[in-house]
Amino acid sequence: MGFFDKVFKKDKKKEEPKAAPAKQEAPAAAAAPQATGAVEPIGLEMADLGELLPGAPKGGKFKLAIYWAAACGGCDVSLLDTNERILTIGDMADIVMWPIAADGKEKDIEAMEDGAILVSIISGAVRNSENEHMVKLLRKKSKVVVSYGTCACFGGSPALANLVPGEGKEILEYVYQKTPSTANFQADYHAGAPVVPQTSFQAPEGELTLPVFYDTVKTLDQVIDVDYYIPGCPPLQESISQLLKAVADFAYNGVPLPPKGTEVGVTTKTLCEECPRKKENLRIEHIYEPHEIDVKPDVCLMDQGILCLGPATVGGCGARCTKVGQPCRGCYGPTSDVQEHGASVFTAIASMFPIREDDGIIGEDEIVKIMSEVKDPLGYFYAFTLGKSLIKKAVVEGGQ
Ligand code: SF4
Ligand code: SF4
Ligand code: SF4
Repeated sequence: MGFFDKVFKKDKKKEEPKAAPAKQEAPAAAAAPQATGAVEPIGLEMADLGELLPGAPKGGKFKLAIYWAAACGGCDVSLLDTNERILTIGDMADIVMWPIAADGKEKDIEAMEDGAILVSIISGAVRNSENEHMVKLLRKKSKVVVSYGTCACFGGSPALANLVPGEGKEILEYVYQKTPSTANFQADYHAGAPVVPQTSFQAPEGELTLPVFYDTVKTLDQVIDVDYYIPGCPPLQESISQLLKAVADFAYNGVPLPPKGTEVGVTTKTLCEECPRKKENLRIEHIYEPHEIDVKPDVCLMDQGILCLGPATVGGCGARCTKVGQPCRGCYGPTSDVQEHGASVFTAIASMFPIREDDGIIGEDEIVKIMSEVKDPLGYFYAFTLGKSLIKKAVVEGGQ
């Protein structure tokens, strides 16, 4: 058995309940997609948005909301990557909220009937009370909610902050008082009374408030019911086209929406299976960063000692990173039969160390030495999916 076969398989008996969305009734109206039990990743039909959307649907434009929670903005930019096609999206939909591009107000959303928005596309993880309030509001007002991008689907890089032991206030203290720039600023201007964000401040004109910074970053479906998932950091333009085609088919022609829980833009296979690099299942005795060696163009990166999450990551991106010599970091998330993304890859890597009898003699010390070459293991193996991992969060117990 090669290392590609050695990823953790889900123990069906012990399987964790899949995130709420696939198993809960959609709260909204009759047009909401129906849950079908197990979620099978399926591909949706591709579409050219220009041909797809010739003017508004007969019943008039539908309402579309786009919102970013704890996000970097890259997901919003990926929506703009539809280029001039964004104008045809404007033909079919009234964009009632899109903080990066349109002036929709929270009070306007609140004034709508429940279910009045056909689709809300939400990127980013849930980091603070404003994120939580807005995604709950959009859930209430929308027939369909799409978890858009890796941060929304798996926590993404914001969820790495869950590895900071203790509570959110420790992160705020570090950011506002301990980095070299902020420590100097506080010492120079606020010595003895450092200025840190407050959730409430009484100004002469009235109370000013800031959102509450949460201790734990959550994925979107850990906070609200989600209908569809589009992973990727950011997702491919093709994936948003697939989703919009399904929505347009529904709005224009009454075609039923895809099954609830559909993951758009992913395959049923691993990334390795769409990666063009040749796999030889070689033994590795050193671990390298790509910049440390002359990366061979056609050989599997793992065979060259570069850690790659391809064996446990679901396909769909077309091996964007490995084709250009960079290892997969797992932004599409795990395959459906992998329970623990990072641990799966770690197991696959361990199986590549020279530990079999026919590999020659290698001692425990040597194995530990190789393992210690993995810099920041948690950060590496869970770069994108810590929010969905079993680890979830570092905690402090008894001062440790
Ligand atoms: S998934 Fe990637 S591009 Fe999208 S918000 Fe998160 S970090 Fe940014
Ligand atoms: S480079 Fe990565 S994705 Fe490609 S075959 Fe090797 S392990 Fe799999
Ligand atoms: S190769 Fe991996 S990290 Fe790169 S885009 Fe694809 S899934 Fe994401």
